[in-house]
Amino acid sequence: SGTNLVDSFLNAAKLYRDKKAVHFLGKSITFQDVSEQAFKLASYLQEIGLKRGDRVAIMLPNCPQAVISFYGVMLAGGVAVQTNPLYMERELEYQMNDSGATFIISIDMLYPRISKVKALTKIEHVIMTRIQDYLPLVKKVLYPYVQKKQSSVQVSLEHSGTTHLFSEIMKRTNETFTKYEIDAENDLAIIQYTGGTTGFPKGVMLTHKNLVSNATMCSHWLYRCKNGEEKVLGILPFFHVYGLTTVLILAILQGYEMILMPRFDAKSVLKTIHKQRPTLFPGAPTIYIALLNHLDLQKYDLSSIDACISGSAPLPVEVQEQFEKVTGGKLVEGYGLTESSPVTHANFVWEERVSGSIGLPWPDTDAKIFSMETGEEAGVKEIGELAVKGPQIMKGYWNQPAETEAVLRDGWLLTGDVGYMDERGYFYIVDRKKDMIIAGGYNIYPREVEEILYEHPKIKEAVVAGVPDPYRGETVKAYVVLKDGEVCTEDELNKYSRQYLAAYKVPRIYEFREELPKTAVGKILRRSLVDEERQKQQ
Ligand code: ATP
Repeated sequence: SGTNLVDSFLNAAKLYRDKKAVHFLGKSITFQDVSEQAFKLASYLQEIGLKRGDRVAIMLPNCPQAVISFYGVMLAGGVAVQTNPLYMERELEYQMNDSGATFIISIDMLYPRISKVKALTKIEHVIMTRIQDYLPLVKKVLYPYVQKKQSSVQVSLEHSGTTHLFSEIMKRTNETFTKYEIDAENDLAIIQYTGGTTGFPKGVMLTHKNLVSNATMCSHWLYRCKNGEEKVLGILPFFHVYGLTTVLILAILQGYEMILMPRFDAKSVLKTIHKQRPTLFPGAPTIYIALLNHLDLQKYDLSSIDACISGSAPLPVEVQEQFEKVTGGKLVEGYGLTESSPVTHANFVWEERVSGSIGLPWPDTDAKIFSMETGEEAGVKEIGELAVKGPQIMKGYWNQPAETEAVLRDGWLLTGDVGYMDERGYFYIVDRKKDMIIAGGYNIYPREVEEILYEHPKIKEAVVAGVPDPYRGETVKAYVVLKDGEVCTEDELNKYSRQYLAAYKVPRIYEFREELPKTAVGKILRRSLVDEERQKQQ
């Protein structure tokens, strides 16, 4: 399949030519359609001045144009900078300036936001898709991506100068472009910004080899090709490396059909599974939880689901078991981070797996635990920092040599996650180094407390954080979302927690919420809850 994204795309275009490649809101296009359109875009980008290594921002929700744009940029020799379409001006400006992007591909609905930022960045060329032309339905689905006021603004775009219309580019007959020789090991394919859960997003330099090897590992480890008719459900956004690798790159590499959804909405996901019958469904715990809690769950047939990998946050065992019961498929926990393209570990899908563990390191991937006290390799079941090594590990952070040096040592990536390995080589994540709570001199890992809360029958979601406390330095606070229609008191939860946790770990404060703040891949934003608390106390 080739060791770079260009060759793997060209191979797929030949091998799977007439197969369906992308399904989006009731309409499908083939591998041939995708390749023709990506060629047109590549040829146009080069014509308007794209040079090898130039950064091209792609600010789109999951849709066919996002697939075409990504591979168009790869073919043209550019470096893609996937950008969250929900970004407001300040966030967009930061990412454009940090990456030095000179091109941006987006939707006309976001044009007002982009044109404001353009003058403050190096962006020269703006390519606009008119997604609502694709299907009228889309406008409704995309609504959350634009503010009410903006959506009613009539955007006038002309196909000239520095603003270009995607639809006009697709009418071209010229599909020729200069194909560069790619050095898979060193040439960047993307600069991927981290999720920003613990701080300001950092640009992660991922090469062609990083991404192709991770998608290849994924296909070997996770999915058995039963009949060549695999369909992968694309809910995870492409602007996060998790969705990019496990949906977009994997599907092109393996000839799977992608069923794309521009945003997460539990009911539409259930309906789509029922109608489109995907077999593979990479996701995150909050996604599976939302589906399981949907009132109409029983109305839908989810039996097409064969295998799911859950990453980005710990998967509660309860959720794993329930989801498997409902679908009849397998749901296993994996682990990764942006800096490793992202996956480094997962459980087996069809053989034995260990609940609560992130599984084994993937093929070609090494993993070790380093003691936080001595810096030496830790013994079995001894807690320390997880480090990983393999072909999926990033080249470094973009323009941040000091940050790179702090996490990359002799090819090992220090993950910032605390964990341990058991005698059989299975790994467990205890928590993030940065999330550890120190209350009255005791170390408390939020995950352990959260797991207990998740087992409470009335709790839908829970997150635990260390909030400032004048006497104990920090104190344990739990933010809780109850299942629909449930009522519960602080006292009830307190009594419950005391049965399972040592006194110093028991939350001192509970706050009931309707919902919790989350990142783009559904990870609960503990940091923003702590920031809120700090502000309240000032
Ligand atoms: P930032 O690095 O900017 O703070 P982020 O944490 O959202 O943002 P990602 O690269 O998206 O960046 O997330 C990687 C992190 O997700 C890992 O370091 C780990 O803490 C967490 N993670 C991923 N999978 C799991 C899992 N199965 N169990 C526990 N934690 C996980």
